[in-house]
Amino acid sequence: MTDLQIIHGRLQHAAYKVTDNFCYSCYKVVEGDHCPDCGSDDFMRHLSGVGVEYGTEWVIEHLIQTRLTPVDGEAQFEKLLDECYPEIKIGCCTYSPSQVLKNLDPLAFKLGVSENLESLAEDGQLYEYNGDYYEMSDIDDMLDEIEAE
Ligand SMILES: [Zn+2]
Repeated sequence: MTDLQIIHGRLQHAAYKVTDNFCYSCYKVVEGDHCPDCGSDDFMRHLSGVGVEYGTEWVIEHLIQTRLTPVDGEAQFEKLLDECYPEIKIGCCTYSPSQVLKNLDPLAFKLGVSENLESLAEDGQLYEYNGDYYEMSDIDDMLDEIEAE
């Protein structure tokens, strides 16, 4: 199993943990593996205060969006540029590499931002979800918290 599969498995597990089984035919939350009234085990997930739906993707989305903040890709790339390259002096003025690139070649800057995010995700430092990137350590902390609840 890859790290991503492990994280996805843990997210799914967390989604089950924070939700209840919900029997749609009886329209109620159910304890145990089968509905005591109709015997069904085809449960929807019920997340208190949020809703009822089949599957766990929407629960995972809710957990990530309400508990975590996506990384600021631009700020991260600016920091990287300013750490890697010296300041640029023109006469008496000094410019940071990030501001120079951002203003002179906004397209190259944008491309750099997304390439940087992608490579951090490939390294396992970031987790991509619905087009946003999250610190893997934040995902880890959130899962530890839910697993400990
Ligand atoms: Zn039922």
